[in-house]
Amino acid sequence: MDIHAEPIAKIGIIGGGAAGMSCALWLKQLGLQPVIIEKNTYLGGQLKGMQRINRWVLGHQQQTSAELAELYAAHIGQLDVDCLYQAQLLDIRRLANGFELTVNQLEKHTSLLVRALVIATGVRVVGAEVFADIPGFAALYPSTHLSFYPLDHLPKLGQLAGRTVAVIGGGDNAHFTAKDAALAGAQVHLLIRHTAKARAPIRRHVQALVAEGCIIEHSGVQIAAFATTENRIILALTNGQHVIVDELFGRLGFAANTGFLDNFAALTNISKARGYINTDAVYRSSLADVYAIGDVADALHPSVVNAIAAGAVAAQDLSDRI
Ligand SMILES: Cc1cc2nc3c(=O)[nH]c(=O)nc-3n(C[C@H](O)[C@H](O)[C@H](O)COP(=O)(O)OP(=O)(O)OC[C@H]3O[C@@H](n4cnc5c(N)ncnc54)[C@H](O)[C@@H]3O)c2cc1C
Repeated sequence: MDIHAEPIAKIGIIGGGAAGMSCALWLKQLGLQPVIIEKNTYLGGQLKGMQRINRWVLGHQQQTSAELAELYAAHIGQLDVDCLYQAQLLDIRRLANGFELTVNQLEKHTSLLVRALVIATGVRVVGAEVFADIPGFAALYPSTHLSFYPLDHLPKLGQLAGRTVAVIGGGDNAHFTAKDAALAGAQVHLLIRHTAKARAPIRRHVQALVAEGCIIEHSGVQIAAFATTENRIILALTNGQHVIVDELFGRLGFAANTGFLDNFAALTNISKARGYINTDAVYRSSLADVYAIGDVADALHPSVVNAIAAGAVAAQDLSDRI
């Protein structure tokens, strides 16, 4: 049989971040035909906007995350991978041997037949919605003194000396923000709902700053009400204390971008835990021919290299099976 007479299997990849691009690269090299379906006008996902050296990618000591995003996207461009930008999935129907996708791109509808689906839609920052029902919040937000993106304190560090700052959250990002603000000369209140969950090295650094008095840690507290006075924010805590601050940084974690799956009967029953897609070791989900890679399937160890590795593993498994 002439194997070249066989049609090349198309694989739909939803999301063009590090995970989706890596999967596309591997699929292409393995002789399959990836199609990236991306809601934005560009590839890169979370990396795209991060102008900070990424210290966690072997061999790339000097590159910012945004530069890595450019490198990855250029690589995909050279491989001539099909990418649908500004694409919105309107329908996903399971067929006998794959899926039919209906995609809306700038009011133009396209139908795509794919042999398998790879979900690589990443995560979003949890933000203001968490405080929406707390008294006083609606009057305060939006405000330039209150923000939620994990790196948004960096441009403000030069103005924080002598000011008072609250950081809300108990994970790594809350700890990094509290440390950065304290080292910039701010008096920091770190408000932790339950207990600290940051990794040991950053936790130790924060505890040292607590011992020096630069950070005051409040554990087991939540915000009961917000108010303002003379351009400052008053936080009434559930333990009865009040804290008055100049800046407030929420570090409330992330949520998997899986809500859109509920729109499609073919995917609504996919197994999830706290919104993240459950997979096996080769990134197969609970549904036949549906994979999930990168942050959307990795609540515990989100990182560029893990996303890239997941894309490669899923592609190899697909190639072995199809
Ligand atoms: C502030 C911050 C700092 C970080 N720092 C580091 C670091 O220093 N080192 C490190 O290794 N990692 C870091 N990370 C984590 C790293 O950025 C992620 O693990 C990695 O980028 C995840 O890639 P991904 O492809 O899984 O998801 P994403 O990058 O989130 O990509 C998902 C893509 O899917 C698209 N999408 C979403 N929904 C849809 C839909 N319905 N239809 C079509 N497209 C959709 C999105 O537009 C996006 O392009 C950081 C993350 C944050 C937030």
